[in-house]
Amino acid sequence: MSAPGEQDEVAGRRPGDARSRLSGLLSLDSEELQALRRGPQQLGGAAHRNTRRHNLSVIRRLLFGKGPQTRPELARLSGLSLPTVGALVAELIESGLVHDAGIVAESRVGKPASRVALDTTGNVSIALNLTQPDRFIGAVVDLDGAVVERAELGIEGLYEDAALERVVELVELLLQRTTARVVGIGVASPGLVDESGQVRFGDRLRWQEMPLAEELRARTGIPAAVGNDVNLLALGLGRFRNGSGRDAIVIALDNGVGGAVLEGGDPVLGEQFAAGEIGHITVDPGGELCRCGDRGCLDMVVGAPHLQRRLDTEGESALEPAGRILGETIAPIAIMLNINVVVVVGPEQLVAEPFAAGVVDGIRSRVRPPVFDGMRIEVEPNDPDFELLGAASLIMESELGVF
Ligand SMILES: [Zn+2]
Repeated sequence: MSAPGEQDEVAGRRPGDARSRLSGLLSLDSEELQALRRGPQQLGGAAHRNTRRHNLSVIRRLLFGKGPQTRPELARLSGLSLPTVGALVAELIESGLVHDAGIVAESRVGKPASRVALDTTGNVSIALNLTQPDRFIGAVVDLDGAVVERAELGIEGLYEDAALERVVELVELLLQRTTARVVGIGVASPGLVDESGQVRFGDRLRWQEMPLAEELRARTGIPAAVGNDVNLLALGLGRFRNGSGRDAIVIALDNGVGGAVLEGGDPVLGEQFAAGEIGHITVDPGGELCRCGDRGCLDMVVGAPHLQRRLDTEGESALEPAGRILGETIAPIAIMLNINVVVVVGPEQLVAEPFAAGVVDGIRSRVRPPVFDGMRIEVEPNDPDFELLGAASLIMESELGVF
């Protein structure tokens, strides 16, 4: 278990580091390689197109996970024939996604082979984070997870369709700022978001049944995908930051408490797309009145605005008990799913000690020692880039199939 609030953790999580961390994190294990190879390889009729699409995705994923490869290496790793690999690589080069990465001298006899690689800087995603109370944040993110351009627009007084127009404006602004090939648009939105990218319900922007992904596709002609903000925060952490593991419970304390469960690296959405909505669990019966009408919701105890207010009025001594309550609330979720990794993120001045120690103690008080000893609990400052990286990875997954 790493120490909560550890300083080098904080320094180590800047998005600029994503590039260097990516190759190690995404290297494919032998089981994944087997799974890649198991896909359809027989040609014939309408299956031919599916086979080609699958095989293209295999090559993309190998290049993404393993870095530059020669065609014979790709053939060996994929189990496809060398001529098939040659044709697939030619198609990927033609599309601009893959480029020549230079000649390598083969160690064995034979002519030198040239390696091919994903053009990770020539291809980008547009990523948006709609979670901030006063502005929409956007970025151009390359395939290494590096933010190469940023833009933001204020949203004061904008709701419903006017907020949608602002989203489109921000996308257009970012499109003007890049000359790279845009793979797609990924958006992290607060609220309940279904698999089609529709925001079923988002009270802050007063969205109901807002087909955000569909609108963005129609308005820009570019593929788009939308996910819940905390789910994408968890994805950004899990995919671009070393050590979060493939299964994790992630809790964010910013504008209301939200949670996400990663299972096998992917967020659990839930049957009503409301998995992780833990803000209104009662943790202090008879406590302060919440905007939902109940008293003593988790939101009222550890939601950032309320925690800040308590820090201002009662001082630092209010933080440890609040952290403990959060830990006690997380414990049964961790026990039920037997998930080892728990990450809590929020404003730095709130989640540092003594809050972090309270979280760890709260979990420890409810989880049996052998299981607790196998857990890793991290409590650390949030960064809006986590959602941006998650949004970028969402569209890279849907358009390139690389995760
Ligand atoms: Zn409530």
